[in-house]
Amino acid sequence: MLRIGIDLGGSKIELIALDDAGRVLLRRRCPTPQGDYRGTLRTVSGLIEAAESELGESGSVGIGVPGAESTVDGRIKNANSTCLIGEALREDLQVLLRREIRLANDANCFALSEAIDGAGEGAEVVFGVILGTGVGGGIVVNQGVLNGANSIAGEWGHNPLPRPQEESLPPPCCYCGRFGCVETWLSGPALCADHLRHGGEALAAEQICAAAATGDLNCEQTLARYERRLAKALAQVVNILDPQVIVLGGGLSNIQRLYDAVPRLWARHVFSDVIRTRLLRNVHGDSSGVRGAAWLWNER
Ligand SMILES: [Zn+2]
Repeated sequence: MLRIGIDLGGSKIELIALDDAGRVLLRRRCPTPQGDYRGTLRTVSGLIEAAESELGESGSVGIGVPGAESTVDGRIKNANSTCLIGEALREDLQVLLRREIRLANDANCFALSEAIDGAGEGAEVVFGVILGTGVGGGIVVNQGVLNGANSIAGEWGHNPLPRPQEESLPPPCCYCGRFGCVETWLSGPALCADHLRHGGEALAAEQICAAAATGDLNCEQTLARYERRLAKALAQVVNILDPQVIVLGGGLSNIQRLYDAVPRLWARHVFSDVIRTRLLRNVHGDSSGVRGAAWLWNER
């Protein structure tokens, strides 16, 4: 069985084709037509048709999008690629490609990819977290995505940061209209903004990490605040979902010290005598989203 996955991002569209065993047969990518929904549809279907003619067979198609399908009318909501909002993306692609298509939030695709053959392989429950431009989350149970009644299962980035101390007050406003969302503290831009707020220079996240590693006290303290907030926010997930594995993705998942510091810090916030949940870095890196989209068809 040929499985095709598409990661429909704000700046690029990626395609991967996997064989039955999950081996990569082909990869393609091209820029996302900006603000052009019809053009986006044409690009996606063109990529798939070209891949199938190159491989000489047709496959199943799964699509990962930065958003979710409304359970009311199947139209896209919560997308930061705004040209997708309100469009019946799956239905339109089904017409163009003449087959059933599965579609999921990109964080769900990330979690699925890591649960099937990545950091969470073999775990019953995996919580996948994207720490990037925004903060997203996805839940996979027994290698299947948990969508939920409102297709928002795992959307943890817009919960408030729990137990904010002085260092996390006042709560910043979030684009979603609320205040103090996890995303306003734990995204890449949030890390940089927090550094500025505490008297630091305007630095990129990588620069803050590099400076902290060479002993810059201000940068070190910024990362320490980040770790305390991540530990509190993830402890709430552990209390509710109790996953075997939490896997981090997105640009900030490259901060190696998180994997030691955060589990040390979350102990005091989790309601349990022992915590077996493991916090792990992703295995498939930037490919996790597109691989997970292909695995949306994972019946063997
Ligand atoms: Zn929010």
